[in-house]
Amino acid sequence: MQITSDQFHEKSAEALQDESLAGALFVLGKMFPLMRETVAGQLPEFEALRDRARDIRNHALDHLPDYLDAFEKKVIANGGRVHWARTGAEANRIVAKLCKEADARQVIKSKSMVTEELELNDHLEAEGLTVTETDLGEYIIQLRKEKPFHIVGPALHLSAGQVSDTFYEAHQEHGRSEKVEDKAKLVEEARIVLRERFKNADVGITGANFLVAETGQIALVTNEGNADLTATLPKRHIVVTGIEKVVPTLDDLGVLLRLLPRSATGQETSNYVSLYTGPRQDGDGDGPGSFDIVLVDNGRSNMLDSPVKEMLRCIRCGACLNSCPIYGAVGGQAYGSVYSGPMGSVWTPALTSVSQAGNLPNASTFCGKCEEVCPVRIPLPKLMRHWREKEFEQHLSPTTARWGLGVWTWLARHPRSYRLFVRLGLIGMNVMAPAPSQKGRWIAKLPFIASGWTESRNLSAPSGGSFLTQYKQAQKAALEKTGHPSKTEGASK
Ligand code: SF4
Repeated sequence: MQITSDQFHEKSAEALQDESLAGALFVLGKMFPLMRETVAGQLPEFEALRDRARDIRNHALDHLPDYLDAFEKKVIANGGRVHWARTGAEANRIVAKLCKEADARQVIKSKSMVTEELELNDHLEAEGLTVTETDLGEYIIQLRKEKPFHIVGPALHLSAGQVSDTFYEAHQEHGRSEKVEDKAKLVEEARIVLRERFKNADVGITGANFLVAETGQIALVTNEGNADLTATLPKRHIVVTGIEKVVPTLDDLGVLLRLLPRSATGQETSNYVSLYTGPRQDGDGDGPGSFDIVLVDNGRSNMLDSPVKEMLRCIRCGACLNSCPIYGAVGGQAYGSVYSGPMGSVWTPALTSVSQAGNLPNASTFCGKCEEVCPVRIPLPKLMRHWREKEFEQHLSPTTARWGLGVWTWLARHPRSYRLFVRLGLIGMNVMAPAPSQKGRWIAKLPFIASGWTESRNLSAPSGGSFLTQYKQAQKAALEKTGHPSKTEGASK
């Protein structure tokens, strides 16, 4: 997986200047969380389902070899084939070989984050194949040669005008010379072009939202129905998916399917939820002649034995992205990885290295909102903290940060010096703050290593003394009023 996460600072600074992006992110950050909250509130057992989902995913991961083995046996019994790929390169080679076996020239694809991770399209195109993404968002970013902006909505950052420009340029070779700007007409135009691709495709490649060990089926969840056309129209269906997607039974799948659309798009269910069992059987009216599943490891086994194992529970709903204040300010492209937001900040260093992707786990306020909304209760801040610790251990963090943490550690161990430091800091900050205005008192510029804080915003001036001073005052007031210290007495000892 090629990443440019080392450019996070530059890319996020650019993104912050982009007004049209800010508008798209505002809608995304308001609309999806509100819709999620509404549908979750309508389901009394929502929190209990989250517990069950966490347990199901943990159980599957704890017995991953057994469930994958059971899944493979069932797939073979159903007439399909399973291929194991240790690395991304191996997975790409297997898919290209399967396409060659089919004498394929035209390939259609539905949205799949694993194939984005593998950069499968580039590989197949280098082998002489024409690959067309059929999810509308993926199709748009494929034409624009961009990486997905969001794991659920790859082109959510683009305006209708930008899509119109892209289609106008790309669709002239399909005989469409009129520039279309209306959203419904843009969708219609994409549908007309894509229908031709569906009809002429030799191979259809999909991902899988889940694999069911009990039955050997794959589950696909979409809103556009393009994955179903991809899986059924061409003569061959290839599924490319990560090994972590397996769940034991159909009942377990039911639990996850109740959480996924609610968490992702605030829907009770997605428009299309399909289970695929294998190739066309005698008597079937349609379906592909072959059904191949490529199970991709590409670093997942290493994660299984690591402190970030819990990340493998992820069901790619995108709720953590929608709730993250950092993602909500800079959007997906700044992350320089197909996986962005809080989930990407854990996945990306796991699949590459902390030296390449260390910026991402640092791009978090640790407000905890991502963990609060995650349907499988992944402790994202804890996992990001793991990568920060690794970065620190490997001496990769900036000298100023290391120096600052060293000073802080020393002060935390020397309470008297700490109190003196705080007192001097308060005096200094009060000197730096101008006289109060109607908007309060603000410091416009901090000196030295703290200057970065005030580069793009003001800092509120301190008021009412240090935390410890205020705490003691509150304790004293409580004692005078009730004869007892306040409930937080224990914390002061
Ligand atoms: S980490 Fe949780 S919230 Fe984020 S995409 Fe994965 S399952 Fe969804």
